[in-house]
Amino acid sequence: MNSVFTPGNPPTAEQIAALAIVIGPNLKTDEPMAPKTSMRVGGRAAAYAEIRDPRYLVAALSICASENVAWTVIGLGSNLLVRDEGFNGLIVRLAGDFTKVTVDGYRVRAGGAVPIVSLCREAAKHGLTGVEGLVGIPGTVGGAVRMNAGTDVEVGDVIDRVEVVVAGEKLQTFTRPEFAYRRSSLDRSAVVCAAEMVLTPGEPREVQAELRKRIDRRNATQPLELPNSGSIFRNPPGDHAARLIETAGCKGWRVGAAEVSTKHANFIVNTGGASCADVLSLIERVRAEVREKHGVALETEVHVL
Ligand SMILES: Cc1cc2nc3c(=O)[nH]c(=O)nc-3n(C[C@H](O)[C@H](O)[C@H](O)COP(=O)(O)OP(=O)(O)OC[C@H]3O[C@@H](n4cnc5c(N)ncnc54)[C@H](O)[C@@H]3O)c2cc1C
Repeated sequence: MNSVFTPGNPPTAEQIAALAIVIGPNLKTDEPMAPKTSMRVGGRAAAYAEIRDPRYLVAALSICASENVAWTVIGLGSNLLVRDEGFNGLIVRLAGDFTKVTVDGYRVRAGGAVPIVSLCREAAKHGLTGVEGLVGIPGTVGGAVRMNAGTDVEVGDVIDRVEVVVAGEKLQTFTRPEFAYRRSSLDRSAVVCAAEMVLTPGEPREVQAELRKRIDRRNATQPLELPNSGSIFRNPPGDHAARLIETAGCKGWRVGAAEVSTKHANFIVNTGGASCADVLSLIERVRAEVREKHGVALETEVHVL
């Protein structure tokens, strides 16, 4: 099966027509992807669709699986770079039914397209604690589950069940998938449609105050005024990528309009008109310098399509 991250030929007119039958008018071709990522770089998707209903998702992915059309899913593109050459396949973004949050006692069910900030606000409204540490992560629940996004708290800490669609199969539920630092055990061809979390009762005013404190801290320490993708590199065990990059002297390094942030060394910012190639080249230069100066091989956290 030709699945996520697989380059290849663009879908044929017949394959696009087959996808259009199940997806409907939401299917677009030759769609610019830069505006759908927080770094604001990259090329076009051969096909792009916002899918609102799990049944359409199952149908579209089963066409991709049987027709060997490359595909992937994106959330808010906050940990994602699309190459300048674009993506020769279908890019799916969840919408509609996937944007709902329901709260039943301490159990919160959030659709895969729910922004993390909405999840945090909804939990706070119900006086539930456990997800405050995620506030300020500018992605979706689906992206956060895939990445096991987090800070001192990770999304995997509170997940009880996830509902996924695997290409060519039906909607399935997994109880407590395994999570590690910025990784989940979910198959790469699984689309997270919803996640159920079990939270703890808290004091609404305290939960709100904690959210505020964490947002203020981010505003003070992250270069949020310019397009970026959050942390570019994973922290190596026992250390911080930002410390290694800063002490290697890479802060302020530039390739084209991509710059290693002078505010937070593990961020690369698009100072205006950067290409994806600029960002990727800067990533490789920083990686080489850190290896040279510290003997550490940094692993990329950001996903590249
Ligand atoms: C300013 C800033 C601050 C950030 N701070 C943090 C932080 O503190 N901690 C942290 O962990 N991350 C942080 N990030 C990175 C990013 O926000 C998270 O990784 C987030 O979880 C990505 O979610 P997304 O919806 O944007 O996913 P995308 O960037 O769109 O996609 C990321 C990956 O997830 C996959 N994916 C997306 N949706 C789904 C889905 N429904 N099902 C299956 N796979 C899916 C994509 O295929 C891709 O591989 C930050 C980013 C920015 C820009």
